[in-house]
Amino acid sequence: MPSSDRKRVVVVGSSFAGLTAALELKKRTGDRHEIVVLDPRPDFTFIPSLIWVPFRRRGAQDVTFPLAPVYARRGIRFVNEAAERIDPTAHTVTTTGGERLAYDRLFIGTGPRLAFEKVPGLGPQNGYTHSVCNLEHALLARDGWDRFLENPGPVVIGTAQGGSCFGASYEFLFNVQHRIRKAGLQDVAPVTFITAEPFLGHFGLGGVGESGQMISRSFDRLGIEGITNSVITEARQDEIELQSGRVLPFAYSMIVPPFTGVDAIRDTEGLGNPIGFIPVDEQFRHTHFPDVFAAGVAIAIAPPEPTPVPAGVPKTGQMTETMAKVAVHNIAADIDGSDRHLLPIGELDAMCILDAGNNGMIFKGSHMLAANGEGKHARIMAGPQAHWAKLAFEQVFIGSRKRGVLAL
Ligand SMILES: Cc1cc2nc3c(=O)[nH]c(=O)nc-3n(C[C@H](O)[C@H](O)[C@H](O)COP(=O)(O)OP(=O)(O)OC[C@H]3O[C@@H](n4cnc5c(N)ncnc54)[C@H](O)[C@@H]3O)c2cc1C
Repeated sequence: MPSSDRKRVVVVGSSFAGLTAALELKKRTGDRHEIVVLDPRPDFTFIPSLIWVPFRRRGAQDVTFPLAPVYARRGIRFVNEAAERIDPTAHTVTTTGGERLAYDRLFIGTGPRLAFEKVPGLGPQNGYTHSVCNLEHALLARDGWDRFLENPGPVVIGTAQGGSCFGASYEFLFNVQHRIRKAGLQDVAPVTFITAEPFLGHFGLGGVGESGQMISRSFDRLGIEGITNSVITEARQDEIELQSGRVLPFAYSMIVPPFTGVDAIRDTEGLGNPIGFIPVDEQFRHTHFPDVFAAGVAIAIAPPEPTPVPAGVPKTGQMTETMAKVAVHNIAADIDGSDRHLLPIGELDAMCILDAGNNGMIFKGSHMLAANGEGKHARIMAGPQAHWAKLAFEQVFIGSRKRGVLAL
């Protein structure tokens, strides 16, 4: 264990949650404490722009930047390895390289494990559908799109049962439709959207303002068929079978898989819930291990209402960063005796831009997960400004984080 004055905070994961946590902790505590960040990925990936990679509107170099120089500049130790074992009783993390790190406080921002195996035939590696959930998958989805353009046909986009990242599949859907129209392929490439949501625009949140009507109107205008409450039984070489018995042929398909927690969490008794997401309180502190904090996709959030087909709660990048800052505020309070910050999940605000190729929607909501919808309200602005806002956001976000600055 590090010496009693100088504490060590270990941050596991270095994406929206972990990078924000490490930089915010440095800002709050200066050089008083040691911060160690672990991630097997050497680069940060701006995941929201992955929806453009398949259409060659972005390449790998546009949406990534190396993490080591960012941390070196800020005096933070970066270990480019995964946490293999976490022992919250002994207060240690063991890396894949065999280093055993004792911690005073642990921050977990490990995001999701993509659980393709839950649906036979799903996924780009052992199945037949594409994904844009990480850079490697987006690059495979790009190769698939090139093949589709040479040999077009029906398209199926969606989110599998148990999935939660609905915004990404809508964004990708509208971008696909935009590209199909630009290529003049609408007569040979009908587009179908399948989703576990009980209605279009539910987003795992019971809807966001007028999202239901707005998304339905867009589907009607663009001639997209939407199938809600869908359960995929199997994806095969060129077709998807639904539990309803309907079989959807496809020449191109992108289905966001169900998410679970990552193995390092699932393998540690008591750290995660049955699917590996971490239970936290309103300080974003683990409900059983008080020295452990977590934020982002890694945490457990109960759906605001039951749905006929399981639909998870989305945890957006902006929500993730808010949670990480609250967690760090409380880590600093623990180790420096500063003030605390409480944020009940029900009071989380959400700001999201849904790009549609040349226009889109900007969602701004508050109390999105409030019990019984108390205080929940949202506004949506639709139009070309959403597309430009996403482009601007991407540039500001990547430019500032690359310099180790939390500008947004
Ligand atoms: C296609 C797509 C589009 C999206 N678009 C938007 C958008 O427009 N706006 C928005 O707000 N949100 C968007 N999101 C959601 C956003 O990407 C997530 O909210 C965000 O990535 C969550 O950040 P995170 O740090 O919790 O998890 P992640 O970004 O998944 O990062 C987890 C990190 O942990 C690391 N890790 C995993 N296991 C270990 C381990 N054992 N040890 C060490 N490190 C580990 C991983 O390598 C990774 O770097 C989108 C998501 C997708 C998939």
